[in-house]
Amino acid sequence: MAAFSARATENSLDKIVEDPRCGRALTWIDSSAEWVTSQQVRLTEIPAPEFAETRRAEALREIFAANGFQTRTDSSGNVIAERPGSDPDSVILLAAHLDTVFSGGTDVRVKREGTRLLAPGISDNGAGLGALAGLARAIAESDIRTRKTIVLAGDVGEEGEGNLRGMRALVNEFGSHLAAVIAVDGPSTEFITTQGIASRRIEAVVTGPGGHSWSDFGIPNPISAIARGIVRFTSMRLSLSVRSTYNFGTIEGGTSVNSIPARAAVKVDLRSESEAEAGKMETALRQAMQDGLRDEEAAFDAPGDALKLSFVSLGVRPAGKLPADSPLLAAVRDVDRFLGNRSHIERSSTDANLPLSLGIPAMALGGGGRGGGAHTLNEWYDPTGRELGLKRLFLIALSLAGLDR
Ligand SMILES: [Zn+2]
Repeated sequence: MAAFSARATENSLDKIVEDPRCGRALTWIDSSAEWVTSQQVRLTEIPAPEFAETRRAEALREIFAANGFQTRTDSSGNVIAERPGSDPDSVILLAAHLDTVFSGGTDVRVKREGTRLLAPGISDNGAGLGALAGLARAIAESDIRTRKTIVLAGDVGEEGEGNLRGMRALVNEFGSHLAAVIAVDGPSTEFITTQGIASRRIEAVVTGPGGHSWSDFGIPNPISAIARGIVRFTSMRLSLSVRSTYNFGTIEGGTSVNSIPARAAVKVDLRSESEAEAGKMETALRQAMQDGLRDEEAAFDAPGDALKLSFVSLGVRPAGKLPADSPLLAAVRDVDRFLGNRSHIERSSTDANLPLSLGIPAMALGGGGRGGGAHTLNEWYDPTGRELGLKRLFLIALSLAGLDR
């Protein structure tokens, strides 16, 4: 992190906005919101379930390449676009996740209703991907040169069970060259997400002999055992000192209504502002599931090893927090003041967790416009006013990267 000096930014914002090249980019943004939206629609209509982001990545790579960026795809599937600065050892990374929570067969065609666009993934993270496309084009239109290298990336594995593997690969690759990382996620320009929430995603699997519902009655039932474990866990009190949440997200098992299942599994998402609290919740969850198993065995006077319990870790997101006096935060505040954008500090679980946990200055910002219904089939996005988000990202990127003649 040597590259990020105590000086807030390479140039004062005043100097940047006076530069005619910057003026060209802002003018382009004002007249081209529709182009940005059309890129967003095109990318959203290419399905990108977890672990199947390749086609969408390729489409984004073409947009970056058409705007003069050096592009490539890394071994994890990230698309990386670079615009080298005069000091190539120092990198400003802006990354938007490519993946969605929706499975392959989901209808992702974009429908229009008034000013709204409707489609699964149109906002999360169509808004972020569209913004990166707009940013690439604005930089190209301005023909601006920077000191630090600007890297734009569409990264894989942010949602669900991706476990931030895309961002992990980016941080590994650029390592100590990273001066700042901005995850562009969703639309909102009201938030500056500087705190990463710790999360643990765990699957608990219970197996047993299984059998016939009538003739084998008395064999402990994995589904009942899981239900007992859930009741035990949800009856506990969470610590009130920090905000923590849990969600039993999916449950599956069994083969037919008249068979005692031989297997059942539940997936759980635990989150907390505090790493320690997330760890405590995980320990409590494991204990509750174990106790649920014993309860089920005891209910049928079954031997203590009739059921087997195992856990699979589906993902660990470390917590992290950008210091309040961080130059990165000061740069964003400057830009918000200049644009008249009211914003406030937020916490969330995003790609920014990873760099934050390693002490790399990072945050998550929205790409502009408005949206809602994320992670549901009713997801929507309204591009009205998206210019603000694009200008914001452009000015932040430039003030972090610094102008070069
Ligand atoms: Zn997202």
